[in-house]
Amino acid sequence: MRIDLHTHSTVSDGTDSPTRLVMRASAARLAVIGLTDHDTFDGLAEAMAAGARFGVTVLPGVEISCQQNGREVHLLGYGVRTDDADLNAELALIRNSRNGRLLRMIQALQSAGVRIGIEDVHRVAGTASSLGRPHIADAMIAKGYVDDRDEAFRDWLNEGRPGFVRRYACDLARGVDLVHGAAGAAVLAHPWARGADAVLTPEVITGLAREHQLEGIEVDHQDHTAAQRSLLFDLGGRLGLVRTGSSDYHGTGKKNHELGCNTTRETAYRELCRRIALRGGVLGR
Ligand code: AMP
Ligand code: FE
Ligand code: FE
Ligand code: ZN
Repeated sequence: MRIDLHTHSTVSDGTDSPTRLVMRASAARLAVIGLTDHDTFDGLAEAMAAGARFGVTVLPGVEISCQQNGREVHLLGYGVRTDDADLNAELALIRNSRNGRLLRMIQALQSAGVRIGIEDVHRVAGTASSLGRPHIADAMIAKGYVDDRDEAFRDWLNEGRPGFVRRYACDLARGVDLVHGAAGAAVLAHPWARGADAVLTPEVITGLAREHQLEGIEVDHQDHTAAQRSLLFDLGGRLGLVRTGSSDYHGTGKKNHELGCNTTRETAYRELCRRIALRGGVLGR
């Protein structure tokens, strides 16, 4: 049974609609996917309806933009109640700050000679409800400034580049508490990707597990080396955490993240579901 618990749709910065994503999951012989768009629940209803049609179980999720010691880190919330007031208020705050940052990044890019406007970003973002740097990258591609998202991030959008502007993110421990408040289970996304091991040390992860009842960590992820995967697997085992593996699929928006390129073992998935059920959360169907 193939299980991929971390994917994105056009509701945030993926390039497949929730329905198209589920169709592709079915074609990739995945029995279960988690839809985890950045800071929004907006794709879940469509994905779950498509899951019923195409024979794919869709575990509802969200990837929350968090921060630890001033560095951005990502938290996956699975099985959360999408009507929870506190979690919705926090996600709305993050999405708002995404919109404000978007305008300031466009100003910064214009000062650096890149002539794109907010309307160009909205044109490529379509109906996305959570706007991010990948949409600015797409607008730059459409106007011929760069060839792909990688080049846009490398030259313009990454921290330290001319277009970068920081935005608000939720304190990580509070994010875990908010997921629990919404009856879900919390899993650290790609904890050691892109240098995040500097802030998500074994001590910090241990603290989240012991003091905030973090449920899991993503171990198998394209941004982790084999050595990191091995260390995270052992750490998670010692802490009694569910250890997941996933693609972090973004459609054509992210290279080398094909659906099902990493998967979660069935035993780990069952344990995650058990922990969601214990909290009274929403299981995949
Ligand atoms: P934001 O959430 O607006 O700060 O943008 C960060 C998002 O951009 C992450 O969730 C990644 O999915 C995506 N991203 C980061 N670097 C790259 C890259 N080099 N190519 C494509 N997508 C990227
Ligand atoms: Fe993303
Ligand atoms: Fe992420
Ligand atoms: Zn992701």
